[in-house]
Amino acid sequence: MKLIPFFPYADLFRRDEAALTEIMMSVCRRGAYIQQQECRNFDANLAKFMGVKHAFGVANGTDAIIIGLRAVGIGPGDEVIVPSHTYIATAASVHLVGATPVLAECGADHMLDAADVEKRITSKTKAIMPVQLNGRTCDMDALQAVAEKHGIMIVEDAAQGLGSKFNGQCAGTFGKFGTISFYPAKLLGCFGDGGAIVTNDDEVANSVALLKDHGRNAEGRVVAWGYNSRLDNMQAAVLDHKLKSYPQEIERRRSVATRYQTGLGDLPELTLPPAPGADSRHFDVYQNYELEADRRDELRTHLDEQGVKTIIQWAGTPVHQFKELGFEVDLPITDAFFKRCLMLPMNSAVTDEEVDYIISVIRAFYGN
Ligand SMILES: *Cc1c(COP(=O)(O)O)cnc(C)c1O
Repeated sequence: MKLIPFFPYADLFRRDEAALTEIMMSVCRRGAYIQQQECRNFDANLAKFMGVKHAFGVANGTDAIIIGLRAVGIGPGDEVIVPSHTYIATAASVHLVGATPVLAECGADHMLDAADVEKRITSKTKAIMPVQLNGRTCDMDALQAVAEKHGIMIVEDAAQGLGSKFNGQCAGTFGKFGTISFYPAKLLGCFGDGGAIVTNDDEVANSVALLKDHGRNAEGRVVAWGYNSRLDNMQAAVLDHKLKSYPQEIERRRSVATRYQTGLGDLPELTLPPAPGADSRHFDVYQNYELEADRRDELRTHLDEQGVKTIIQWAGTPVHQFKELGFEVDLPITDAFFKRCLMLPMNSAVTDEEVDYIISVIRAFYGN
């Protein structure tokens, strides 16, 4: 029996161990830990990669959202519409700046549904925050039409969307600001926590630069209440190195997705995520491969017994189901989705043979 981990953290270090070790040793030998050249290089290279004017490394993807929201002036009394099908960090960031997260449904492609968003707009709605989930960008035409009609800004949680595009434009660059996470299991993962804020707006950029570093300006004078949320130089050095081969990382993930599609696309018991190229407006980078499955829990147990480790995202709980947080909204589409969703191994270390094995285990489960 094969053993296929959901995400092979250590393998991804080992396959590039010599180069990564040298990069980290070089940082240590120079004692260059905080806000040094590697941070400036990475910010510039990330901005270039995404086709955006400004990029700022910060301590993690959650801080990125909080600082972004502060920078655009969202706070007490404001409402921000976010999908319930997301990581708690999206909604928590809205709450933590003093605003109210308003939860909305996802559509058939599992992404924030523009028609449902429009129903939830009130006089207090300040922003819509699409989450560019699983390496796919939302239908930004539909969301931007709603935002423009109601005079509301868009801000993006693109934690899972680095390099994903809609109509040729990168996730994270559609709104007033966008955020990325470099958590180790994210598409571009570092060796600890890391995140970034990107924006084309010079004023927002100035605010972010202050807020991430204790509200200090270039002369070191404190001009606002800020955070200690700097991407550390060691992580920036690692990320700058990994960014160079990131296009290959994306290509490999798209090829794994194509292989799953070819091997599983005919099974009526499954709804697969859109295949690469299925919709010419979308360029998906497959942060995750999240499908819907009949008899999901049995399938998961079967896969586990055959050595294939899978995940039910966020322990099977969309944000609105955390009753302790005070949500009372009813979201039947999201509820139904969470009874069926399952993530298969998706990373650049999984081999074609392993993907074929996973496919054969699933086919056998459904009697094929
Ligand atoms: C990972 C993630 C975040 C938070 O990123 P951290 O770096 O872990 O703080 C926010 N939103 C979504 C959708 C994520 O997947």
